[in-house]
Amino acid sequence: MSRSLRGETILIATHNRGKLDEFRQIFAPLGVTVTSAGETGLAEPAETEDTFVGNARIKAQAAMTASGLVTIADDSGLCVDALDGAPGVYTADWAGPSRDWSMAMRTVEEKLQAKGAVTPDTRRATFNCTLVVLWPDGTERVFVGQAPGHLTWPPRGALGHGYDPMFVPEGQADGGQRTFAELSPGEKNAISHRARALALLMKELL
Ligand code: IMP
Repeated sequence: MSRSLRGETILIATHNRGKLDEFRQIFAPLGVTVTSAGETGLAEPAETEDTFVGNARIKAQAAMTASGLVTIADDSGLCVDALDGAPGVYTADWAGPSRDWSMAMRTVEEKLQAKGAVTPDTRRATFNCTLVVLWPDGTERVFVGQAPGHLTWPPRGALGHGYDPMFVPEGQADGGQRTFAELSPGEKNAISHRARALALLMKELL
């Protein structure tokens, strides 16, 4: 059955302010009203699956059941080639309970150093974003976006969130080598994993 999100109020199943701001910027021009699990005080479910889609489904189901709204949940993370895809679904966990992103980035860097990964081609990484859209009648759609790049050290830039200061994405409009944290929100949204997953979602649902 064909579905549309036009005119809907959508719940974004996240407590992450940085992610929510990115969703808002992308949806704002389309007249879609966005609220979030964080803003409406919904509990954060435990992410117990070992795949992005599994964890996105847990978040979507919990938020949709609590709110009765069409819900979009995102599970995302950084997969580092030289670390066999880690931290992957454990990307947020590497920042510890206090969400210390400096520590998380240092942990990634120490593991890369231990592998002798010092050149950009040995430090390849991909940000992944899986979006699950869940309607109150149980209909579900899944969209996946990726942003390939490499990891740099020391971290650079003050914008963005999470691991942005050490990630240099491919495909920058000026052909440059800035980190996600050195790109304006508009520049990041042109090439990010979340924007790519959302572009697929919008193509089908808006
Ligand atoms: P979750 O999807 O909320 O379980 O956590 C994924 C984690 O991946 C986030 O908390 C961030 O640390 C990291 N992450 C996801 N997307 C980005 C991004 O665009 N920039 C930097 N870090 C990100």
